[in-house]
This record gives sequence, structure tokens and C-alpha cells, in this order.
Amino acid sequence: MGKLDGRVVLITGAARGQGEQEARLFAAEGAKVVLADVLDGPGEAVAADLGPDALYVRLDVTREDDWAAAVTAAKERFGKVDGLVNNAGILRFNALATTALAEFRRITEVNQTGVFLGIRTLAPELAAAGGGTIVNTASYAGVSAMALLGAYTASKHAVLGLTKVAALELAAQGIRVNAVCPGAVDTPMVAPEVLRPGTDPRAVREEMDRMYEKVVPLGRIGRPEEVAKLALFLSCEDSSYITGQPFVIDGGWLAGISVL
Ligand code: NAD
Repeated sequence: MGKLDGRVVLITGAARGQGEQEARLFAAEGAKVVLADVLDGPGEAVAADLGPDALYVRLDVTREDDWAAAVTAAKERFGKVDGLVNNAGILRFNALATTALAEFRRITEVNQTGVFLGIRTLAPELAAAGGGTIVNTASYAGVSAMALLGAYTASKHAVLGLTKVAALELAAQGIRVNAVCPGAVDTPMVAPEVLRPGTDPRAVREEMDRMYEKVVPLGRIGRPEEVAKLALFLSCEDSSYITGQPFVIDGGWLAGISVL
């Protein structure tokens, strides 16, 4: 018996990173998974690896028509959708004073508007299926802040606001809505080549590892598989009395200021 037997869950940003691990874990727990992303090659490869219970759809979370088409494709293949993980997101570093308007808008569009469109599109489907779950991916930057992440921090705070409002509005239809707030997680989003382009990735990795050892009480960066387990908990019956809540998963980083 899997924890998600009989469920059909759409996961955005599922071509790699946390979304990929969520798709893999959810499929292993019996769900049919719809992997949505804009990276067609990697997304199709993960879906092919998972077999007939997985479907890849191209879905840019900022586009209403892509959302509608993804739901149609999911229902044609699996008959319903009763779970959603709004995981797709983008990260850019910039001081507020030098952030271009276009960059601020793009981050807002993907991280915030994308989550809104996901909830709005899927809520009627989940209700029609007799209820379901939505998990939104916020961040430690959704409950705290980090310098150089102004647009990102604002967008992730918004994700928590949307999570709470959706939980209030959708509870009567049997839909629970929660959020995961990961700290640093080892995915392509924060790979050394992305953080410091043009420098030796191994040296950057070692420097980052030393930093995490110092500032994260558990002493290391998180693994995407660990976030996937939290998303699973919030998507299955184990969390049946939980809705509208943010769940921080950060190795203790936000617990306080460590002087050890
Ligand atoms: P990632 O970059 O590996 O994965 C993000 C995925 O989202 C990619 O596959 C990407 O193609 C997809 N995506 C980007 N824009 C999209 C769009 N418009 N439409 C559809 N898909 C799109 O990074 P990740 O770490 O796996 O990120 C997953 C989520 O976790 C994001 O919301 C991110 O903000 C959040 N997060 C990450 C960290 C971290 O340290 N990695 C920490 C906190 C929160």
C-alpha cells in the first residue's frame, strides 16, 4: 500500500531538483504523476523513467492557457487531478536599489502569479474529485529574509499569503493547502556555476559547504529528497488535520542565532 494510491498529482518544475524528487517519491507511493516544466528534454526523461503512471506536460506556470492544457492532458490520461504541488520557481540575486523592473516582475510572475494560477486552475478539479491537497513551495525567504533577494523574498512571502487564503476558502470542499519553506537545498538552482559563474565550481562548493557547516545547526545543505518527504506528508492522509500552514525545513537555520 502506497501513501498516495489512487491519487493523481500535478507537480510544477518537476524536470529537476526538488520537483523531480517529489515526482519520483510520489510515484513510488502509488500516485500517478503529471510532471510539468519548461525544460522539455529533462522533464520527458524523468517521466519516461517513471513509466506509464507518469506524464510530462509543457507548462509555463505564468501562462493561463498552459495551465488549462495541462489539466486537459492530465484528465485525458488519468481521469482526474486531486493533488497539486506548486514547486516551480526562479531565483535572482540583486540589491533592491539595483533590481531592474523587468527582473522584479519576472520573479513575481513565476513565483507568485504561477502559484495563484495553479490554485485557481486546479481548485475546481480537486473539488470535483471529492477533495485533495495543494502544497506550495515557499522558502525560508517566505518567513524571513535575505539580503540581495528582495524580489524573491517578496514573492515567497506572497506564496504564504496565498496558501493561507486558499486554505480558508477551499477547506469546505475538502481541499487542504499547505506550504513548504526549504532552507538551502542542493539543486541546480544553487549550483556553484549558477552562484558564481566563471569561477572554479569545486572551490565554490567547498566554500559553500564551510559556510553551511557554520551557520546551519545540522551542519550541511539540505537534499531535495528530504523536501520531497515533507511534500509527501502534506499530500497524504498523515497530515489529514493540517491546513493553511508553513513548514520550515532548513536544518535549524532559522531556529535562532548560533554562537557555537
Ligand atoms: P531548480 O532550479 O532545480 O528547479 C526549478 C524548476 O522550476 C526547474 O525545473 C525549472 O525549469 C522550473 N521552472 C522555472 N520557471 C518555470 C516556469 N515559468 N514554468 C514552469 N516551470 C518553471 O530549483 P529547486 O531548488 O528544485 O526549486 C524548487 C522550488 O524550491 C522553487 O520554488 C524554489 O524557489 C524553492 N526553493 C529552493 C531552495 C534551494 O535552495 N534550492 C530553497 C528554498 C526554496
